[in-house]
Amino acid sequence: FDSRDGVIWFDGQFVPWAEANIHVLTHGLHYASAVFEGERAYGGKIFKMREHNQRLIDSGKLLGFDIPYTVDEIDRACVETLARQGFEDAYVRPIAWRGSEMMGVAAQSTKIHLAIAIWQWPSYFDPAERLKGIRVDLAEWRRPDPRTAPSKAKATGLYMICTLSKHAAERKGYADAMMLDWRGQVAECTGANMFFVKDGKLHTPMPDCFLDGITRRTVIGLAKARGIEVIERAIMPEELDGFSECFICGTAAEVTPVSEIAQWRFTPGEITKTLMDDYSATVRAHAKAVAA
Ligand code: PMP
Repeated sequence: FDSRDGVIWFDGQFVPWAEANIHVLTHGLHYASAVFEGERAYGGKIFKMREHNQRLIDSGKLLGFDIPYTVDEIDRACVETLARQGFEDAYVRPIAWRGSEMMGVAAQSTKIHLAIAIWQWPSYFDPAERLKGIRVDLAEWRRPDPRTAPSKAKATGLYMICTLSKHAAERKGYADAMMLDWRGQVAECTGANMFFVKDGKLHTPMPDCFLDGITRRTVIGLAKARGIEVIERAIMPEELDGFSECFICGTAAEVTPVSEIAQWRFTPGEITKTLMDDYSATVRAHAKAVAA
């Protein structure tokens, strides 16, 4: 991944992709003092760019640091990087981290860095499997109590258990893993939020210890616009038997139907299909509206 062509925006400069390096004594690498975003461009325009870049700044604050750029400056840097890379449809990855000026848990005077890399990432899941519905395992790791970690931040450290869970699932032939939270309630997948369908209504867990995804909020809006009732509540895994459809959503995953979670079975149906189509139409319409 580190030897491509193109450029990366790095602390205000464009550097060749292969030269966007950091020192091994970077605090962010040792102590997970880093936050990031995942955004998608459609038709040359980044969907919900402002919301993502504001969340990046907010995530930094939750980790006790100020990213030394305003949201306008980060937006502009993303737009310029996308233009330099020359992609229409692409994935945008800003990341901010504490630098290598100090080593140790305490690192108050480290410099805060920001980089933005953009690459083409067509479908997060195998496209054929995605349409049939992906198979999801039940993760062993649980989302931490908000008193245990700053769970509202999109912070790199919170992804340690996501990578562990995703790898365990992939070893068993699954595409992803569903994580419960510390109470045993259904939380989310390793990089996406979850929705279930029962009697024509959508049910989704309350995002009180995991990311309230920007895609999640978009999907809730699309469902409401269709007159579909959305119920945000605590969902226990035992209830999964009673749901007919399930899908996950996130910037990278978009809206992806689920056919299985461990012993539970779902059939991607009308509501999943409608929201999948509405989501694609919305991100494309956004690109046209911004371009106009
Ligand atoms: N949960 C996790 C753990 C994620 O990594 C993501 C992707 N950022 C999401 C949920 C969905 O968030 P969004 O819709 O804002 O991309």
